Amino acid sequence: MMRTHYCGQLNETLADQEVTLCGWVHRRRDHGGVIFLDIRDREGLAQVVFDPDREETFALADRVRSEYVVKVRGKVRPRPAGAVNPNMASGAIEVLGYELDVLNQAETPPFPLDEYSDVGEETRLRYRFIDLRRPEMAAKLKLRSRITSSIRRYLDDNGFLDVETPILTRATPEGARDYLVPSRTHPGSFFALPQSPQLFKQLLMVSGFDRYYQIAKCFRDEDLRADRQPEFTQIDIETSFLDEQDIMGLTEGMIRGLFKEVLDVDLGNFPHMTFEEAMRRYGSDKPDLRNPLELVDVADQLTEVDFKVFSGPASDPKGRVAALRVPGGASLARKQIDDYTKYVGIYGAKGLAYIKINERAKGVEGLQSPIVKFIPEDNLNIILDRVGAVDGDIVFFGADKAKVVSEALGALRIKLGHDLNLLTCEWAPLWVVDFPMFEENDDGSLSALHHPFTAPKCTPQELQANPGTALSRAYDMVLNGTELGGGSIRIHRKEMQQTVFDILGISAEEQQEKFGFLLDALKYGAPPHGGLAFGLDRLVMLMTGAQSIREVIAFPKTQSAACVMTQAPGAVDAKALRELNIRLREQPKVE
Ligand code: ASP
Repeated sequence: MMRTHYCGQLNETLADQEVTLCGWVHRRRDHGGVIFLDIRDREGLAQVVFDPDREETFALADRVRSEYVVKVRGKVRPRPAGAVNPNMASGAIEVLGYELDVLNQAETPPFPLDEYSDVGEETRLRYRFIDLRRPEMAAKLKLRSRITSSIRRYLDDNGFLDVETPILTRATPEGARDYLVPSRTHPGSFFALPQSPQLFKQLLMVSGFDRYYQIAKCFRDEDLRADRQPEFTQIDIETSFLDEQDIMGLTEGMIRGLFKEVLDVDLGNFPHMTFEEAMRRYGSDKPDLRNPLELVDVADQLTEVDFKVFSGPASDPKGRVAALRVPGGASLARKQIDDYTKYVGIYGAKGLAYIKINERAKGVEGLQSPIVKFIPEDNLNIILDRVGAVDGDIVFFGADKAKVVSEALGALRIKLGHDLNLLTCEWAPLWVVDFPMFEENDDGSLSALHHPFTAPKCTPQELQANPGTALSRAYDMVLNGTELGGGSIRIHRKEMQQTVFDILGISAEEQQEKFGFLLDALKYGAPPHGGLAFGLDRLVMLMTGAQSIREVIAFPKTQSAACVMTQAPGAVDAKALRELNIRLREQPKVE
């Protein structure tokens, strides 16, 4: 071993000891006859001083530059009073350098590491190996490693087995496009990269493994929506003979233990909330409960009013009219309200009606609003009472299809919460349960809300009769408005699985062709089973306070699903294509 200590581990207890450090020259300073080198390694920085009395070493220290790789032998000594650096883990000591070896030189890095500089993300990703030297980046990956090790320990202690599942496989329906890999040995056929290990983990339950986990790479070729990665990591879990309460309890314990261990945060017991309540009160199936604002339904007061914008949706069974009271919001300026109106437009809302409550005691006179003239005073008072409006508030309204109102007011609620600093606590976890089995597509057909292997809360006959209203045995863990993980009890009987496929419009032949192996497995003694998967990147992002999942992935892809460092994806030569039996429709442009 070349080193005796990491730089960041040096402290006063090592005074007078000789140490050998290995690392990078973080900063070099010439201070009237002595040279200071700050040496950096994974664990932090140490200051090394070179005196001119060791002539050769001093001359060498004078020649090293930023990011040279060096080995230093020297003696630890307390820093002189007044030179102590409280911002440095090893700031109370320094090392008097005896020997210096340059293990490798470095060109001037593309961006400086010893001071803050605003470097574009493209450059950081192109030189990711240098970007990751920055202590704040290294800290995130170190925390990520502590997180996975805590999770593994918990799952190992609870009898879970770590089993790997294939990367070259068939499509697994999780609702995204597949990444395909051409097969050379089966010309014209393709593997799909797994969107999740879903079916394999279920088959492991059929095989009797009872408790499985895997920190699994998943691949989804999605459009460039905010902060997604084409490959990402799940903490994937499956169990047999446990019901949803057991599984939620077990995994809640895992996350609670993780937060305690890594952040010293006590998350307490997670409340459970039905999907219906989450949509009704928060307009979202992943409500941020740090935010105190709530949606309140008011359609019943508006069915008869002489204002189509309200009476239409209020009378439509698929419509919704809801109000959102914002305490103190009467002081919002016209311009701010206009901006919020634009903002809800992103979610399909055609406008944003509001009432400012200047002085309720004055009745309609005390309200400021373009819409009060359309609403009879009695109904108006019921609405204002129902939302709890007091002087100084603003009440926003959404009226449209239920989906639009929930999404638009749900998003507005989140935005107002941040803009007006309304959040009441740092962490707010919960479980969302009782999801619908299916959601309706625009053409009236149904899609699985979770995935088609999720068990319903009813019999196959009941499901067949009323698929649109059936609930599933799915559950999501939500933290601060982010879905951390989700899963379900699975279908373990063939008849039920076929019923769900039928409702989804998958023909018997297609069922056999795509999922024959699953239907087979369900015939040969499949135990009741269920599980879930957590998004590791999201979890690490929340726990490190990072702004993007790219910040917590060592080598992420860009928003256009490319790697600027390796230049992947790249062209392949004609021979390779020929072997794969592939001819390109158009020659890609030569750059
Ligand atoms: N496979 C699911 C997903 O990736 C998770 C699960 O149901 O366990 O969302």
